[in-house]
Amino acid sequence: MSRSESLFQQAQKVIPGGVNSPVRAFRAVGGTPIFFESAKGAYLIDADKKRYIDYVQSWGPMILGHAHPEVLEAVIERAKSGLSFGAPTALETELAEQVCALVPGMDLVRFVNSGTEATMSAIRLARGFTGRDKIVKFEGCYHGHSDSLLVKAGSGALTMGVPSSPGVPAALADHTLTLTYNDIGGLKKVFADMGSQIACIIVEPVAGNMNCVPPVAGFLESLRQVCDESGALLIMDEVMTGFRVSHTGAQGHYGVTGDIITLGKVIGGGMPVGAFGGRREVMEKIAPLGPVYQAGTLSGNPVAMAAGIKNLELISKANFYPPIIERTTTLVNGLQAAADAAGIPFTTNHVGTMFGFFFTTEKKVENFAQVMACDNDRFNRFYHGMLNEGIYLAPASYEAGFMSAAHTDADIEATIEAAKRVFASL
Ligand code: PMP
Repeated sequence: MSRSESLFQQAQKVIPGGVNSPVRAFRAVGGTPIFFESAKGAYLIDADKKRYIDYVQSWGPMILGHAHPEVLEAVIERAKSGLSFGAPTALETELAEQVCALVPGMDLVRFVNSGTEATMSAIRLARGFTGRDKIVKFEGCYHGHSDSLLVKAGSGALTMGVPSSPGVPAALADHTLTLTYNDIGGLKKVFADMGSQIACIIVEPVAGNMNCVPPVAGFLESLRQVCDESGALLIMDEVMTGFRVSHTGAQGHYGVTGDIITLGKVIGGGMPVGAFGGRREVMEKIAPLGPVYQAGTLSGNPVAMAAGIKNLELISKANFYPPIIERTTTLVNGLQAAADAAGIPFTTNHVGTMFGFFFTTEKKVENFAQVMACDNDRFNRFYHGMLNEGIYLAPASYEAGFMSAAHTDADIEATIEAAKRVFASL
């Protein structure tokens, strides 16, 4: 028995399913989850000392690569001065200044501890600001696991077959309208019918929780337009895309700005940090300035802030993104060529340093129905083939992949060579 197998058996005795987040359990792809011991740059080392090239990056945060020495030093130095005060520190202002300078439309920002907290708070704020209850989301988009947002959700909720979870009161779910991603006509119709009741739209500006699905031309612009016409707020959920698609996120990339923006993942560089912020007049409704309540014992935690500050400083350097984006393109093109050579129906999507691949005969994947029609069985066999080759991909076909600054040309080439062997075995 491998060490991962025995650690998994032990974990299942005290942790539901042996994991603290469902997709980690490998239910979708089958087999035993890999337990990791350490990571450095582009590589993960598992409990059996096997090395993997990592395209999961803790689900997005590690754009600098794992255990970046400058980030580690910032964290260790800061920890020596105390782990938490539950009172203001100058570090919070420093990170807030960086975030407001980088993120379009960010006048004021509040830090929280996860992406879930950020989106949950953003929804409450939008409802409090507009005095309306209904919210609009898109099928296959995931915005964390708060009640209002666990309706037709993506990522693990989709993988586990519970996109609309038991335990969410029907009275609450009734206020969540779920539309089809990239369907501009459907969007306009719903706003024509009931726009005056809608508090907000929440959207992943590049969907990364139903694999990787970019917005079609005009989709984000249409969201902005129906919000402006109806008085609803646009929440750009940039938890995944923020500082990932570009240094100014998907908003900067596509030139469409939300009223509220939610952030997570890269903003903490592997420490638990989330944030929500946006237009001053909206953010002034948050306590203590306004009546919409939101709080957190560990929010703005100094060690987490120190990691975030160093992370954003490093990603802000000139020419940080272009080589990572180039490697992302090289990888997806190489995978495509390898699949084509093996005669396997396959297509890819990528935006910035995010990518996805699909086992499908479709030439382009633009919506949830197309994602759901992909060949999962083939994905699972590909997944285990790649795992065996020492390539760590997300253990479910509904997740985006991520490139980091630490991945080298040799890593990309090794990944493509591995894929050639695995495609040939499918
Ligand atoms: N929004 C998006 C777009 C996400 O991708 C995620 C997590 N994958 C979340 C929100 C929730 O973030 P967290 O897991 O940190 O709660």
